[in-house]
Amino acid sequence: MEKLGMNEIREKYLSFFESKGHLRLPSFSLVPKNDKSLLLINAGMAPLKPYFTGKEIPPSKRVTTCQKCIRTPDIDRVGKTARHGTFFEMLGNFSFGDYFKKEAIPWAWEFVTKVLELPEERLWVTIYENDDEAYEIWNKVVGLPPEKIVRMGKEDNFWEIGTGPCGPCSEIYFDRGEDKGCGKPTCGVGCDCDRFIEFWNLVFTQFDKDAEGNYNPLPKPNIDTGMGLERIATIMQEVDSIFDVDVIRGITDYVGEMAGVKYGDDKKNDVSLRVITDHIRGVTFMISDGILPSNEGRGYVLRRLLRRAARYGKLLGLDRPFLYNVVDVVVEHYKGAYPEIQERKDYIKNVIKKRRGAV
Ligand SMILES: [Zn+2]
Repeated sequence: MEKLGMNEIREKYLSFFESKGHLRLPSFSLVPKNDKSLLLINAGMAPLKPYFTGKEIPPSKRVTTCQKCIRTPDIDRVGKTARHGTFFEMLGNFSFGDYFKKEAIPWAWEFVTKVLELPEERLWVTIYENDDEAYEIWNKVVGLPPEKIVRMGKEDNFWEIGTGPCGPCSEIYFDRGEDKGCGKPTCGVGCDCDRFIEFWNLVFTQFDKDAEGNYNPLPKPNIDTGMGLERIATIMQEVDSIFDVDVIRGITDYVGEMAGVKYGDDKKNDVSLRVITDHIRGVTFMISDGILPSNEGRGYVLRRLLRRAARYGKLLGLDRPFLYNVVDVVVEHYKGAYPEIQERKDYIKNVIKKRRGAV
């Protein structure tokens, strides 16, 4: 397999699904529209909810997006681990009552094996325990042997939130090799260790759960898939951490240069470099989407990211305002997919510069 850059993977994904009749939409804003249940967009399907529920008519029954997302529940772990981040991008292909499993599954396989050229022998899939329809497609249409199709329970492979549309999922895993594993005889798909990583989740929204707990089949089932761009990039580039992915590493190295330290030389400095690298991306996109630092709601999330980035900058000896300068390198890397940040670059930098506390 070729070591594809993050920007190339994004483009290959979107153009692949365009070739399958999907309308490519730009990422929606991080600010949810008419959705009081969410502070910030946190998944590829979140801004598409009105299309799934039928509240709004989609511009096409097949849509593909790369959605910018922010999740903050694990904010305190960011920097300390290889995988935690608050800002990430989610690739997805969606069917609003149009195609279903027999298209979604073979397309996912085709993209992964033919476009990304991931070696088949390192791929595994999971399905929901009762989903024989998915099993048949993986086995008969795609041609995966039975031992490569792992049946999992409701907790892992059934998507539902309260009542409403829900359904089974099928996930694709990559085997990073025995040397990344825990070595236990039981090690396999679903093990907690770093060997098998799930990178693509195909959700088959085929039921409508009612208040009595009945799963009523939807007349027109939907497809909702999600693949974390950073995660698939770590697989393609054979690195252990999202911070070693080309685009992201470019930002980390730039901050390191400013501080006169090298990423990888010192564990404590690395934590600071990772925190700043993660947060400045979220900050750039949030301000670009019209959010301003404040004491509540989204503005508070932004203020918190700015303050944390400044604090970790101080630990690196960056006492003078520095963060606004990092925006330049974020824009350089991301402007191809998100031209709006190029247009609003000066504005974004000014908002950061004006923050009290000199970040
Ligand atoms: Zn294991």
